Amino acid sequence: MTLSEMRRWIDQRGLQLTKSLGQNFLHDGNQLRRIVAAAAFQDDDRILEIGPGLGPLTELLLATGRPVRALELDARLCEVLRERFAQSPNLELIQTDALRWLQQNPADWSSWKLVANLPYSVGSPILVELALNPTPPRAIVATLQLEVVQRLLAAPDTSAYGVLTVLVGLQFDATGHFKIARDCFFPAPDVDSACVTLVRRAQPLLPPALVPIGAQIVKTAFSQRRKMLRKLLRTQWPEDRLTAALAACGIAETARAETVPIPTWAALTRHLAGPPAQI
Ligand code: SAM
Repeated sequence: MTLSEMRRWIDQRGLQLTKSLGQNFLHDGNQLRRIVAAAAFQDDDRILEIGPGLGPLTELLLATGRPVRALELDARLCEVLRERFAQSPNLELIQTDALRWLQQNPADWSSWKLVANLPYSVGSPILVELALNPTPPRAIVATLQLEVVQRLLAAPDTSAYGVLTVLVGLQFDATGHFKIARDCFFPAPDVDSACVTLVRRAQPLLPPALVPIGAQIVKTAFSQRRKMLRKLLRTQWPEDRLTAALAACGIAETARAETVPIPTWAALTRHLAGPPAQI
């Protein structure tokens, strides 16, 4: 879909683009093809797209012949998509708030890949929602604000390392990313963007049953970044159990959350939440 085609649809329908819905459409063919290539589709993959907009990415995803489920909030854009893709039986288009829909429709996403230029206002919560799912997608190829991608890639002991890094990192490995220039979008956004590839870990760091408790531990420990994590977790765990778990995981009594690597969060969760015999 070229920029002039995009403008034509917008003009013909008299569409007023909504900034709060992150309606910056990607018209650069090279970047769109890079995104699809990053998804490295295998035969039985199913595709979830969130925020298809006018459908520049949807078009390429449908061309793979795989089932595509697209969740778009804006009814006017859904009308355009229905018209553009009337001849595409592999498209299932749902007009909905994607975050709420994911929360209300718990599903097994294990044979799916999310490929999306995400609405930036809900990008992080959508990633967390999928990462906390007991059966997360095989892969996520998401275009996001550059600053969010930096948080996903962050190493411990940096200011970008935080709850998002750890919750997503417990389930996924970040295997690549590339920046996308502002002028690849119409209209050009106020922030820089990047596309990141997250591949579900072959060996999950936590069994699904412990993921919710792991998330609670991580959120509590990061709730006040400057405080020692032991002091924060002491409000929820008995002192003796906490002391033993920290020692077993090699976490210093004085450590702050941002110093703890992702696998150690998994170990700490197992020690705190697992049966006492494991300690
Ligand atoms: N994929 C298109 C592209 O690359 O040109 C559009 C991407 S645009 C950044 C984000 C899209 O997400 C918009 O179409 C917007 O209407 C839609 N959107 C915003 N919030 C949403 C939500 N909560 N649920 C579903 N779609 C949403």
